[in-house]
Amino acid sequence: MAKKLKEAMLYQKQQDRRVFCQLCPHYCVIDEGKRGICQVRENQDGLLYSLVYGRTVTQNIDGVEKKPLFHFYPGSKTYSLATAGCNFHCQYCTNWQVSQMSVEEFAECGVEATPEKIVSTAIEAGCQSIAYTYVEPTIFFEYIHEIASLAHSYGLFNLFKTNGFMTAEMLKICHPYLNAANVDLKAFRDKTYRQMGGSLQPVLDSLKLMKSLGIWLEITTVIIPGINDEPEELADIAEFIAQELGIDVPWHITRFFPAYKMENVQPTPLEILYEARDIGLGKGLQYVYFGNFLGRGNQDTVCPTCKQLLIQRRGFELIENLMQSNQCPFCETLIPGVGLCHQVS
Ligand code: SF4
Repeated sequence: MAKKLKEAMLYQKQQDRRVFCQLCPHYCVIDEGKRGICQVRENQDGLLYSLVYGRTVTQNIDGVEKKPLFHFYPGSKTYSLATAGCNFHCQYCTNWQVSQMSVEEFAECGVEATPEKIVSTAIEAGCQSIAYTYVEPTIFFEYIHEIASLAHSYGLFNLFKTNGFMTAEMLKICHPYLNAANVDLKAFRDKTYRQMGGSLQPVLDSLKLMKSLGIWLEITTVIIPGINDEPEELADIAEFIAQELGIDVPWHITRFFPAYKMENVQPTPLEILYEARDIGLGKGLQYVYFGNFLGRGNQDTVCPTCKQLLIQRRGFELIENLMQSNQCPFCETLIPGVGLCHQVS
């Protein structure tokens, strides 16, 4: 199957038929006939093309909690999709079969889907949103731009599960239709980000920009033994969230399990998760959740003032939602989020 081409957004033509991609902070300068670091954008005859437009490799109906988004229309369904490719190369990627898939393989196994088809399928399935997830959304931005604009016009929400490694230019284009994002803050050491194929500062900049643009934000940190589990680093992450984003931004502390090229690393010890939660609470964060670790209360939303249980979950499953507005029904404290009183029909 021939690759479907779409001329890229956010690039400039340069001398000698080179192109300069401004979609993510790698800012690749790409020679004619070559691809960028993400391997899904190619310079052909001095023009930059997306090689993953118009096809998906994964489409699922998920609960919004699976992104994870715990303060955005609890219990709602989201139509989740991905193409191949990523601008990071994390050694512990749980979706590496897709994120590191070649465009040649993608051309064979991807499924053609027009934006119209995706939006109509999402609506027919009773989804309230479309989630761009499993791989980094940034790298299939042209496709997202068309799907999300259309979805927005039909009253659907648009969600990102993202590494945050995109340019401000991209975020400013998509923020009118981007309602919520769960952003991985994978570490607080630039060295660690470099090992994953990125860098720290652009992610911090994206987080602050998303917040200022009014995009609902939740943060995920997968805690990996020996990589980002030192108390000082966890404290730096929690401090950044509390000081720069707000104490009401949920932090999902997620347990690592061996995967991909990190099969030999042990799962995160539970005492480190508990320590991370204490650190987060100690920095003032009001909503700290555990991921990949079931247990009573680990995923529940509790009022920070009166400590009453507001939203009960087990893993990604919503059990009960007591919210009837954006205030705690017991003490009227304002609970942050969007559509918190959404009831599953
Ligand atoms: S989106 Fe791809 S081509 Fe563009 S700068 Fe990022 S890695 Fe490079």
